[in-house]
Amino acid sequence: MDIPAVQVENLRKTYGTTVAVDDVSFEVAQGQVFGILGPNGAGKTTTVESVSGLRVGDSGRVRVHGVDPWTDRGAATRIIGVQLQQTQLQPKITVEEALRLWTSFYDDPRPWGELAERLDLTTHLRRHFGDLSGGQQQRLSVALALVGRPRVAVLDELSTGLDPRARRDVWSLVRDIRDEGTTILLVTHAMEEAHELSDRIAIIDRGRVRAIGSPAELIGGASSATVVSFVPSAPIDLVPIRELADVSQVRSDGDRVVVEGGEGAPTAVLGALTSAGVVPHGLRVLDGTLDTAYLSLTDHADDHDPEEAPA
Ligand code: ADP
Repeated sequence: MDIPAVQVENLRKTYGTTVAVDDVSFEVAQGQVFGILGPNGAGKTTTVESVSGLRVGDSGRVRVHGVDPWTDRGAATRIIGVQLQQTQLQPKITVEEALRLWTSFYDDPRPWGELAERLDLTTHLRRHFGDLSGGQQQRLSVALALVGRPRVAVLDELSTGLDPRARRDVWSLVRDIRDEGTTILLVTHAMEEAHELSDRIAIIDRGRVRAIGSPAELIGGASSATVVSFVPSAPIDLVPIRELADVSQVRSDGDRVVVEGGEGAPTAVLGALTSAGVVPHGLRVLDGTLDTAYLSLTDHADDHDPEEAPA
């Protein structure tokens, strides 16, 4: 069997008195997109910087295709392509110069022209990095992460600052790169992005992994996998509904009663309403989303900057 592309065991990293990563373990199979999802300050960036060798953990163990990125930076650099949050290039370097320079670092680079085209950079090749918009700088940093044909690509807040069309283009590029066999570590606080792209997701909060699994597993495992709502034909007492099997929460939303629970909740609720002679008007049954799973697993409000582009 193939060894995992990425192995992280009991990673811990502190900055002074701040515990950025408390105890994080996960494995990523080769060729998968692995989402690392969590609120700001959860320890996501510190985790992937420790995987790529940009930071060394206080304790724990990291391997990338068997290489220890803390002690063998040279080998790690050849395997891992990194797009970090604040790519800082020389403001005077042009887009083309940066792409050519990065290309020259690798034995078997991707043709940079193709990446420039996929990332809508071809009309900006002569422009200085410092004159690019935030979204253009972001797209260039994605291109630089991928140009070396890395076996593992680390993409951190991939689509922050991108408009919806650019975001779709970047997502489609990520899928194509994955289909070529590249393993992708995708750091995000955007639920939709994690759901769309990831084969598996780790939800991290306060330096610890709160849950790990495929998007469907995370949604199914949450206490609110199903949401039933209806307008009762006559006033009903919510207390006995809350006590039904597989129901985790009941609330009123105007005239509507909203019930969250597991997969058995709809049957239980309908049975109880029938026994009481109440008709559920406007009945809706919805699957829970990754949002509801995430909110039930991270126990405090996301404090991300409301100025950031919605992702
Ligand atoms: P995330 O990527 O989930 O937003 P980070 O890994 O960036 O989280 O940060 C985790 C915690 O570590 C935060 O409290 C952050 O303020 C702190 N932190 C990150 N980098 C540093 C640093 N270089 N020095 C001091 N504290 C840091």
